[in-house]
Amino acid sequence: MESMLFFRAVGYREVVAGLARLGLSRRSGVVVHASLSAFGQVQGGARTVVQALLDTVGTLIMPAFTYETITWTEGRRASGTAGFHSGLPVSREIGRIPEVFRREFAPLRTSHPVLSFVVAGTGASELAAVQSLERPYGPIEKLAEHGGEVLLLGVDHRSNSTIHLGEQLAGRMILVRSARLASGQVVSFPFPNCSAAFGRLAWELRGARRVKVGRAQVQAVAMSQVLAATQHLLALHPTALLCRSPSCRCQTVRRWVQRRPLAAGLAAGAPSEKGA
Ligand SMILES: [Zn+2]
Repeated sequence: MESMLFFRAVGYREVVAGLARLGLSRRSGVVVHASLSAFGQVQGGARTVVQALLDTVGTLIMPAFTYETITWTEGRRASGTAGFHSGLPVSREIGRIPEVFRREFAPLRTSHPVLSFVVAGTGASELAAVQSLERPYGPIEKLAEHGGEVLLLGVDHRSNSTIHLGEQLAGRMILVRSARLASGQVVSFPFPNCSAAFGRLAWELRGARRVKVGRAQVQAVAMSQVLAATQHLLALHPTALLCRSPSCRCQTVRRWVQRRPLAAGLAAGAPSEKGA
């Protein structure tokens, strides 16, 4: 039935109204993951969505990840040739909305060579300052401490970086990547497994507030809930968030988890043998 309906282009006011229906306001800090095409047509394109976000919330973070700087993945050379600099475009798979935010709205950008974020609004410099190579999700962690929310615009939990933070807090970010800085120097840092299986958290996070904006399903959920659900699931099922693709880096993590069940359990907060 829905396919027979005519969808006109979504405008600025509809996006703003949708965000307000989710309960977002100037007091809100959000990390946004978005698909522009999920809305159907948007008048003014990505710029309209970014402007609606900036006019609604107090603090806005988006991923501005750049994969072309990667020179080394687990055990093999990668094709990365670019050195990271603040003007490097956001990788295509992250979406058009973060790239337009970066290019046209002059947000702060953190300087992680692969996992940089763009940040604007209240406390932006404080949030940007807490990222390091070892804690790539530092800005997300800080926003979570301040009551931040994850806002998914037309995407699902497979795009939700806060779940990767939950994995790291559970001691589960064990892969290493190397990437090139603007100076040409190559640095190494922890890197997450893939997010293809993150849909498994949808049930735990079913309490997320949801609205429809154009064709897009839009949902908001407290980052603290995402972090708690991730750590709880990993404590019960240590491999639950790893995909099954044989060629995926998730299988390296799976082997690590299966070799070290006790260590993995301890990291996830399981009681020690002595205490049991
Ligand atoms: Zn995977």
